[in-house]
Order: sequence, then C-alpha cells, then structure tokens
Amino acid sequence: MEAVDRSTIWPYDERGEPREFFYARYGSPTVAEAEARLGELDGGTALLFPSGSGATTALVLAMLKPGDTIALAAGCYFGTSVTFQTLERWGLRYVEFDQTGPPPEGVQLVWLESPSNPFLTMPDFAAAAAYPAPVVVDSTAATPIHLRPLEHGADFVLHSATKYLGGHDDVLLGAVVCRDPETASQLKTFRSTTGIVAAPDPAFLLLRGLKTLRVRVERQTASARALVPLLEAHPAVSVVRYAGFGGLLSFDVADAEAALRVETGVRLITNATSLGGTHTLIEARARWEGDRVPEGLLRLSVGLEDPDELWADLEPLL
Ligand code: PLP
Repeated sequence: MEAVDRSTIWPYDERGEPREFFYARYGSPTVAEAEARLGELDGGTALLFPSGSGATTALVLAMLKPGDTIALAAGCYFGTSVTFQTLERWGLRYVEFDQTGPPPEGVQLVWLESPSNPFLTMPDFAAAAAYPAPVVVDSTAATPIHLRPLEHGADFVLHSATKYLGGHDDVLLGAVVCRDPETASQLKTFRSTTGIVAAPDPAFLLLRGLKTLRVRVERQTASARALVPLLEAHPAVSVVRYAGFGGLLSFDVADAEAALRVETGVRLITNATSLGGTHTLIEARARWEGDRVPEGLLRLSVGLEDPDELWADLEPLL
C-alpha cells in the first residue's frame, strides 16, 4: 500500500448493501492491510488497537468476566500489571507467577511474556500449553522474526507495535494475533462496538516499519550479542540479563547513584523510556517500577548504531 486511506465512510453498493468497508470503526483498508501483513508474520489473524495497553485491555475485557483471574508472569512489563490493577474495580483479578514453570491452578487466562521486560526470562511454553485456560504471549520483545508463539501452543500473541514492529519511535499501536479465526471475529466485534480502534495513519507507519523489520531485528540482535560479553566482563556490572536473541537486555550496576551516572552521562545513547526503535535507549527502571527491580538495573534497547560506538559511549560511565 502506497497511500493512507483516511476516509471514515465508504459508499454502499448498487443494491444499497454495505461493502467490506462502510464505516471506519468496523474496519478500514489501511488498518486491514497492516493486519493482514502482521497476521502472515505471526501465523494467525491479527487485529490492531490504538496501543499495546489498549490491546491488553480489549483482550481481557472481551475474554473474561467479573470474578475471573489472570495468571500474570512475574517480572513482565510493569504497565501490564498496572492495567490489570486498574481493571480490578470491575471484578478482574490477577495473580503473579514464575513463568519458567507451570501456571497456578484455577485461573481463566494465562499471561506470559517472551522474553519478559526487563528481566528477560522466557516462559515454559509446554507447561502453559498444557493448561486448560487460554494463553496469551506478549511477544513484543521477541517479534515474529525470533518467535511465533502460536506455534508453541499460545492462543493469542500480544504486541506493543509501538516497539520493534513500528520500529522508529513515531507510532503508538498495539496488536493481538489470534490462533482461532472465530475468536478473532468475536474480538473484532468487541473492538467495533467498544470503539477501541486503531487509526489509518499509525497502521500505515506499521506497514512501513514491517518492510524493514527483519533487517532491523537481525542487526539489533547482532549488536546486543556483541555488547553482552563486554558488559559481563566489566567489573562494575554485577548481572547481565539477555534472552540470547533480540535487542533488549538489562544489566545491574552498584546502586541508584551509579545507574543515574550512566543514564545521564550517555551521549550517543538516549536516556528515554521505550524500546525497539532504530536509536539505542537506556533507562534505570526503578524510576517506574520501584522495589520491583534492583535500584541499579539499567534497561538497554539496542538500536542500529555501530556496537563499537555504543560500547565507547557506555564503558567510561560504568
Ligand atoms: N508490552 C510490553 C512488553 C511493553 O514493553 C509495552 C510498553 O512498554 C507494552 C506492552 C504496552 O504497549 P504500549 O506502550 O504500546 O501501550
């Protein structure tokens, strides 16, 4: 697609019947094209939402009812637990569990993250797939280039497309990819009727981002793999967390003061939140997550810069 279709209406056919597209809340061509492309990449039926968190909210509201409980991977994206806490007022509950083992009994939805952000653990897919409840895998940090969770027994893949899929830090967007087309159709109806709908311009930016996804992610993986041993060998770094693929990693320096010195001292790298863009970002996660993370934990999202230059920026500050 070379142009964005920003229309919100499309005329009925000659018999007065709605065509495939008739009113943008029910579907629009640019959004549908981006969904088709992402669906191919992940091997399912994709639906876009205005943000990753919007996708999370829509999915749990569509799938669950008051009194239901979600088993949430401990140490996964902090905002997901905040979203679930917010929804507790409507009777949704969640319990955290160690995703490297089986989910706790008696829950109605299992929520994994592959790899988790910022602890970089990987889920036990076999244990989750054997569980009777539907399984969601937030695969934002892996992307379909490294992992297709539907092939590992997941029922839904969740992406913050704001990150690697969009890839340029200029689009806020989320996606759910469904294994079952019938469930996707129900979720689409829920999306249309509640109005949690992605707009054409972000979808267009996603289409553009997907064209370079593989080369970006492969390069970010290669650079992260080059940086991990350098960090591991550095005496001021106590822990390095890396899943072995992708551009996301985290490492610990001595304390909050040391972390602040690194994040505010970088010149090539930017001290900002988010991940998955062309530009390398670093931040101490304790500013958002408090005690949930070590005070010296720095999250690094490796971009497309030369890894030698990245190391030259970081190393003197450690
Ligand atoms: N999932 C993960 C793993 C994330 O890192 C984020 C955002 O940081 C989200 C979901 C939420 O996505 P968004 O910021 O697009 O709402």
